[in-house]
Amino acid sequence: MPVYNPPLRDMQFVMHEVLNVCDDFRAMPAHAEVDADTINAVLEEGGKFAAQVVFPLNIGGDTEGCQLDQATHEVKTPTGFKQAYKQYVEAGWAALSCDPAFGGQGLPLVVNQCMYEMLNSANQAWTMYPGLTHGAYAALHTHGTDEQKATYLHKMSSGEWTGSMCLTEPHCGTDLGLMRTKAEPQPDGTYRITGNKIFISAGEHDMAENIIHLVLARLPDAPPGIKGVSLFIVPKFHVKADGSLGERNGIYCAGLEHKMGIHGNATAQLVLEGAVGTLVGQPNKGMQGMFVMMNAARLGVGNQSLGLTEVAYQNALAYAKDRIQMRSLSGAKDKSQPADPIIVHPDVRKMLLTAKAYAEGGRALAVFCSVLLEKVHHHPDEKVRKDSDDMLSLLTPIVKAFLTDNAWTATTMCQQVFGGHGYIKEWGMEQFVRDARINMIYEGTNTIQSLDLLGRKVLGNNGATLKKFGRLVAALVEEEGVNEKMAEFINPLAVLGEQINKFTTEIGFKGLQNPDEVGAAAVDYLRVAGHLVLGYFWARMAQTAQRAIASGNTDPFYPAKLQTARFYFAKLFPETATLMRTARAGAKVLMDTDLALA
Ligand SMILES: Cc1cc2nc3c(=O)[nH]c(=O)nc-3n(C[C@H](O)[C@H](O)[C@H](O)COP(=O)(O)OP(=O)(O)OC[C@H]3O[C@@H](n4cnc5c(N)ncnc54)[C@H](O)[C@@H]3O)c2cc1C
Repeated sequence: MPVYNPPLRDMQFVMHEVLNVCDDFRAMPAHAEVDADTINAVLEEGGKFAAQVVFPLNIGGDTEGCQLDQATHEVKTPTGFKQAYKQYVEAGWAALSCDPAFGGQGLPLVVNQCMYEMLNSANQAWTMYPGLTHGAYAALHTHGTDEQKATYLHKMSSGEWTGSMCLTEPHCGTDLGLMRTKAEPQPDGTYRITGNKIFISAGEHDMAENIIHLVLARLPDAPPGIKGVSLFIVPKFHVKADGSLGERNGIYCAGLEHKMGIHGNATAQLVLEGAVGTLVGQPNKGMQGMFVMMNAARLGVGNQSLGLTEVAYQNALAYAKDRIQMRSLSGAKDKSQPADPIIVHPDVRKMLLTAKAYAEGGRALAVFCSVLLEKVHHHPDEKVRKDSDDMLSLLTPIVKAFLTDNAWTATTMCQQVFGGHGYIKEWGMEQFVRDARINMIYEGTNTIQSLDLLGRKVLGNNGATLKKFGRLVAALVEEEGVNEKMAEFINPLAVLGEQINKFTTEIGFKGLQNPDEVGAAAVDYLRVAGHLVLGYFWARMAQTAQRAIASGNTDPFYPAKLQTARFYFAKLFPETATLMRTARAGAKVLMDTDLALA
């Protein structure tokens, strides 16, 4: 059976020693009083909930899956899911970072971020039920009317009602402009919505009293394409004026998908038959509201993969220390045993360190992004809010695609550490791999994230935001450039910081001649940018560890951190050279291949 220990020490290191998040909070009146002890105490309790309540349901949920009653259209979640969710709501975990005006506890988003990393490690399928609610809550908080907020937000922040996100239709996933679901205006100001949605995560279940679906649909006079899509709230049960639940709305689950992983999460085919909805935001401007939810979900998907990377690593490490097989190439390490533990073998160590480096680096990036989001909402200085928004918009596709690609590598490597046992269900490793796979696909495939990064967020503004990140890198290089002990981290980072500007300009020029050049380079480009970002955080973590050691701190945590940084820069970061080379190979070899693909 797999194990999971919440990585509280590493979270504290990232939040309080590397990023000093409480210094940022002091500048924001909403969080000026929040201190490290409060954050740590909440996360300690949160870690217990994740490890003791949610984690034990992970394998059972995968085996049992969800069941649809075709007669009632109700979905039963796996044994224990509903009870754990009740505990989650009663303990107030749903409301952690929600607005106090709607019953939330008003803690900084970083607390929710770390809580969700732990829940995702414990059980990604379970965590998607409350997880999607946060995105729906954020969209309504930003774009809902006062009446909509009063009707829905208290119950969503308490977790009594969950949310879902209804975009995809059988014929359209990436290209939402092809959407067919229709919304007919009614005399009372509501809309009757008719159509078919597929692949809707947590689209039907028995864990909450009501489900608040955020649905994209087209008005009768809507212009074609994505500019004719509007956003609607469609509750599973109507909500009466006094807030109590009324009749069932005309939206129901017609089928559940049978899929590779996340079996405990209901992936619903939803039919809307004149379902009553209310418009969110302006007609035909539905993507504005939905983007709030989608951006939250993109960061959330990166966080799912971060959680899986961590839990897979922990289990592979424990196994590698225990499993004995063959002798070390450099001579027996444990003569009391007939063979050495497999952790002595260089390639096993490489697999473990890859997962560790991606988990710890990804954690720093995810925490940094949650502080940016906090600044976007709560910083008193408009310029800081705008700069943070720009930076977050640049980093969101990197969190989504880079962390999920890394998790696929990491969970697969951790499975490999188990040899044949990794392929056997009872060890839990093959489930981590299967669960990790969807994160590269949904919420905009990683290819689409790469196009968003390179096409819209980098070339779309002539690299201005990338240069802002470049300035963070340059400042660190300047600060540590003469420190010999930091050279192994700072030098490669400085080189990539220089190279990426030229690399970007080159692709930009080629793209002007032929837009396929951008499409051909985008996926490689995102990984290069991902390493620039991760490299920056790894260099900062190395800097903090060096300083702690220099000050006489003997906690073995710091030399371990330095060694992982060393591994990251020596073994993972150099893939940027290959990636730039393959990106430069251009579009021609892809687009002139009609014969090869015939
Ligand atoms: C388990 C699961 C849960 C999901 N949950 C939800 C949910 O809660 N709500 C929801 O609305 N949807 C959900 N989805 C849908 C998911 O977001 C889509 O499957 C995804 O966005 C891709 O759309 P598609 O499947 O239609 O693939 P397509 O859009 O048909 O894409 C097929 C392939 O073509 C590539 N491609 C498409 N266009 C381009 C382009 N311009 N350039 C380069 N490559 C391109 C894609 O990257 C992909 O590799 C879920 C899907 C699954 C499997």
